[in-house]
Amino acid sequence: MSKEATKTPSAKFDLRTFPTTVNEDDLWACPVADCGKTFALKQSLTRHLNGTHDAGIPTKPHRTPKQLETPERAAIKAATAEAVAGVRSTLTDMVMPLREQLRLIEGRLEILSAEAAALRAAKADAEAVLRRLDPTFAPVTAAKGASGGNAARTERQHTERLAAVRMVLSADADELRNGFTTNLLIEKVKKRGLIGMTHSTAERVMDELRESGEIRLDRVTRGGGQSYMLIGANGNGSHA
Ligand SMILES: [Zn+2]
Repeated sequence: MSKEATKTPSAKFDLRTFPTTVNEDDLWACPVADCGKTFALKQSLTRHLNGTHDAGIPTKPHRTPKQLETPERAAIKAATAEAVAGVRSTLTDMVMPLREQLRLIEGRLEILSAEAAALRAAKADAEAVLRRLDPTFAPVTAAKGASGGNAARTERQHTERLAAVRMVLSADADELRNGFTTNLLIEKVKKRGLIGMTHSTAERVMDELRESGEIRLDRVTRGGGQSYMLIGANGNGSHA
């Protein structure tokens, strides 16, 4: 009976007293006299008012999305949808050719690996036959072939360096008459844009020029480097 008493018309909630802001504790306080309940969320207070005090507060917001649909908003929405569709279509345009390309590459790789397998099998067959016919036959391994290629390149570069140094020795003979170091020659070759040389690749060139009698070792410099003289450039080396 006492519970019925709290729901007397006099205690009925008056919409005009509904709080529009939180109190100093950041809470929503029930405006009904003697209730004193507080809530962290406005919806909780509304639920409380409706349930306990029979306040009859509308729980849906007054503004419905339909009311917000102004022509401006509709235009923005349409533009956004169009932009999103444009981006999606651009991505599709980008992705599809790449997928197609990837498919082709994968197909090509499959063919190549099948070809490689067939070639390896044919090579093994040929080698087996050769071994039977010629006991001295030794197959050339891939490693030997590769180092052979490297050796050929090293040789070609050495020949180019040798020619570059000879060119500098001849062009700057006057300047080099009183001796020169390997580093000086490296610098001169580099300045003329002929070929790159490290001290170690240049050393081989110097050795060859000494062996061929074009230069001779003169003395060891203070820094431990070697100083060379041109043979035939002055009287000093002509005896060699
Ligand atoms: Zn209350």
